Amino acid sequence: MAIDDLWFDPALCFIANEWVRPVEGGQLALNNPSDGKQICQIARGTSADIDLAVTQAQTALQGEWGRMSAVERGRILSRIGQRVLEMVDILARLESLDVGKPLSQARADVVALARYMEFYGGAADKVHGATLPYLDGYTVYTLREPHGVTGHIIPWNYPMQIIGRSVGAALAMGNAAVLKPAEEACLTALAFADIAREAGLPAGALNVVPGLGAEAGAALSAHPGVHHISFTGSAGVGKLIQTAAASHVAPVTLELGGKSPQLVFNDADLDAALPFLVNAGIQNAGQTCSASSRILVQRQSHDEVVERMAERYRSLQVGPALSDLDLGPLISARQRDIVNGFLEQGSELCTAAQGCIVDDAPSGGFYVPPTLFTQVNPDHILAQQEIFGPVQVVIPFDDDDEAIAIANGTDFGLVASIWSRDGGRQMRMARQLRAGQVFINNYGAGGGVELPFGGTGQSGHGREKGFEALYGFSTLKTVAARHD
Ligand code: NAD
Repeated sequence: MAIDDLWFDPALCFIANEWVRPVEGGQLALNNPSDGKQICQIARGTSADIDLAVTQAQTALQGEWGRMSAVERGRILSRIGQRVLEMVDILARLESLDVGKPLSQARADVVALARYMEFYGGAADKVHGATLPYLDGYTVYTLREPHGVTGHIIPWNYPMQIIGRSVGAALAMGNAAVLKPAEEACLTALAFADIAREAGLPAGALNVVPGLGAEAGAALSAHPGVHHISFTGSAGVGKLIQTAAASHVAPVTLELGGKSPQLVFNDADLDAALPFLVNAGIQNAGQTCSASSRILVQRQSHDEVVERMAERYRSLQVGPALSDLDLGPLISARQRDIVNGFLEQGSELCTAAQGCIVDDAPSGGFYVPPTLFTQVNPDHILAQQEIFGPVQVVIPFDDDDEAIAIANGTDFGLVASIWSRDGGRQMRMARQLRAGQVFINNYGAGGGVELPFGGTGQSGHGREKGFEALYGFSTLKTVAARHD
């Protein structure tokens, strides 16, 4: 069992490089999505623990961490990345157990986390201000400075990747971070903090307080000592967080959900497209903000695309995460019930194909079969709402204008892709699609540490990943010096 790999007590918070009992002593059960059984207890942090963590982060900014050169910060981040890679087997098993994702997908997340630390380690000393022309007798320049204390509230679906992109960028810019991982999956967040300590991150630069959203999460987003909040999660909670942060005018980055389309035109290379069309919908059992849940297909290609996708669906196997099949379970009974509710709402639709749950999957696990619906009306609830499960709908269209109207016809705007050999169409569509990321003849939302990522509309605002994130995790000071 991967839990035997734990070298720390998961029922504790990690504050100022120490493992500490939550002030109010509360605990929460952490369950294994593959069998529904309890893995261990975790800390139920409250506002008292958040207070402590913010105070320690402030102390770090006034001490060694705040005085550290950018190049030295970068070296520490790079060392953390190396250590993460050395521990790839342990971390992958922990993430697989905790999140319920197939082992090889968890392994890819560990590698991505290491890559984030490498990227942001290398970038730490490459962000700088500018000198500006101004009046005679003045020298004017800008300084890029950390916000101060940054709060990071993350979901359960990709803990390591999201820590990499948000905590990695924040630390690179010299902020001190307080991380509130999801109550459903927080083991690798705790493991990461300990790895960072071991790699030389000074006390207080990264603090982790597990707990419930309405308790620890709400306390972090409303804390007046927090100068920036990075939130990844649902649109509903994102709005609460933006409101809470407004009380002390803290800037907020919101990475929310999506209903991301792939547009397949008659001139597309279907052999190239097919693996992306399906994988982008079923990766992590569809519990991916950038999952491609809508496949828009030009009418002449429709039947062929559906048949080829259906063939793949019929071969998909769902089972325990550590068995490393195509799909693992969903994160919780609640999530399974939500997805089953959507499947019921789709019962009048045409089901093209379903995958199967393997016979020996434990009965207590939260499994649902991946399901492909076809001939779906773009206004149907399954084509409009984020399902966050392994469900894709295929929608036919006739021409470019209709494709854009359908693609842009939801509240979301996170990712989109275009499958076509026509260069002019590729460029036109890329401009017209309402999305933070557009892929042409690929769908790469999961990877691409270097590529800025974020949404429009109900998918959120602000950008993480890539160099762009470093601007979000810093503030600009203008210095105007008058001299004779
Ligand atoms: P969620 O919003 O319920 O929870 C996310 C985090 O917010 C958790 O840590 C939770 O404890 C915390 N939280 C909950 N209530 C809170 C409150 N009142 N105040 C402060 N914090 C609170 O989301 P979820 O159901 O765990 O995750 C699924 C959602 O996340 C989906 O909508 C998905 O699309 C989105 N998501 C987006 C991205 C992205 O990068 N855009 C990535 C992953 C997930």
